[in-house]
This record gives sequence, structure tokens and C-alpha cells, in this order.
Amino acid sequence: MIKLTQIRKSYGRHQVLKGIDLSVEQGEVVAILGPSGSGKTTLLRCMNYLERPSEGEITIDGFTVNCKRPRKSDIHALRKKSAMVFQQYNLFRHKTALENVMEGLVIVQKVPKEQARKQSIELLEKVGLGNKLDSYPSQLSGGQQQRVGIARALALNPKVILFDEPTSSLDPELVGEVLAVIRKIAKEGITMIIVTHEMGFAQEVAGHVIFIDDGTIVESGTPDELFNSPKEERTKQFLKRFT
Ligand code: ATP
Repeated sequence: MIKLTQIRKSYGRHQVLKGIDLSVEQGEVVAILGPSGSGKTTLLRCMNYLERPSEGEITIDGFTVNCKRPRKSDIHALRKKSAMVFQQYNLFRHKTALENVMEGLVIVQKVPKEQARKQSIELLEKVGLGNKLDSYPSQLSGGQQQRVGIARALALNPKVILFDEPTSSLDPELVGEVLAVIRKIAKEGITMIIVTHEMGFAQEVAGHVIFIDDGTIVESGTPDELFNSPKEERTKQFLKRFT
């Protein structure tokens, strides 16, 4: 369903991604792990063209973008296939929780306002925020804001949700509620790619785990393979920090 072929990305002379190949099946949950600065966020942002890869090819749900010769229409189509959940939530500050979720439906998907409102309420209820529809981001905890971010991503009806360290800005006591929502969505069979430092969560929820270091995939496998019998020395060293 998703195929990345030889994705490279440089900022000036600094090559951040050094030829990433990755295949993700429909309904699969993939966790991306790796040290700070290894290129995880850049890789995720390349997948929906928030960053333009320098080279390589991205296919999502039958749409392919050749990054050397991208066509605007292809980029547009590719972007519509995914939704991103950001580390810093990225909500509109002057809009309520409900308006934040409705925005994508009304503006991007051209859904009539009343229908968008109904769908958005259902999505906010799904993430446990049925009682916060009219709250502004400043009136919500970090965990609640991130759950609005997840509802907003779901509203776009994407083929894949890209999570960029969705809990790393949260106080420890708020991490659990966000992970619970992601866990619930994962069970519904939505394809998800999650950059995370939550090792226990990755082990539990992901079907496939990728360890990335210095812009390359060092090792990948099932959670059991990667966490319980890593083959590469770099993976072993990285995982040691979390035990
Ligand atoms: P972290 O876990 O700390 O979020 P990461 O693995 O997600 O790290 P990236 O954010 O992808 O890492 O960054 C990879 C490298 O690319 C870093 O060295 C970073 O400084 C560099 N980088 C990222 N974005 C830019 C940019 N816009 N301009 C220049 N360099 C960048």
C-alpha cells in the first residue's frame, strides 16, 4: 500500500536520509525508532511531501511521485492519502476543538457544514472528548489537544496516519490517554506509521518495527525480533538505553 524506494534527503551538504526503502501493507502498524537526529521526522515528513525528498519514489495507494520529477497533481493526490499527527499538536488556536476537526472536512473534503459537524462530533466522542467540543486549545490539556489532533487526522479519512512522536511533548501522566486512543484506532485496521520513543507501546501495538540510525534503516522486523533478539550492534546499543 505504501512503498518508498531509495528516498534521499539532503539539507545543503548534510545528507539526512541515505536511501530508504520501505514497504507497508494495508492495515499494518509500523513503529520507527532511532536516536535523536537520525532522520525519523524527516522521513515521515517526506512521505506526505511536507519535505521534498531529493531523490527516490513514493507510492501510496496506487499514486506514485517521482521525487526528481514530481508533478504538482501527483503531489496533491499523494498528500490527500495521508494525515499527520504532530508532536506539537498544531491546532488552530482561535478555533474550538469541534472547529479544528471540521476544518479539514469542510475545506479539504468539501463536506456540507452540517454533515461535517455531525461527523466531527462523532470523531471527538471517539477520542473521548465529547464534552469538550466548544473548548479552545488553550482550555485543553496537552493530552486532550493531541486527541483533537488525532480526531482531526481521522476526519481526513486518510489511507495512512503518520504520527510524529505524538506523546513526546506531554507530561508523563498524560501519555497514557493518548496512547490508549492510538491503540484503539490501530485495532480498527487503519494503516499507521508511528515515530516514537515509547518502546513498550511500540512493542505492543506495532506489527513491524524499524530502527533507523544516521539516515539508514539499520534493522527491521517484528517487535519480538527487534526487541528480544536484535542482530545489529547499533540496535543493541540503542535499546540498552531503555532497559
Ligand atoms: P528527534 O528524535 O530528535 O526528533 P529525528 O530522528 O526525528 O530526531 P530529524 O528531525 O529528522 O531527526 O533530523 C535529522 C537531521 O536533519 C538532524 O541533523 C537535523 O538537524 C537535520 N534537519 C532537519 N530538518 C532540517 C532543516 N529544515 N534544515 C536543516 N537541517 C535539518
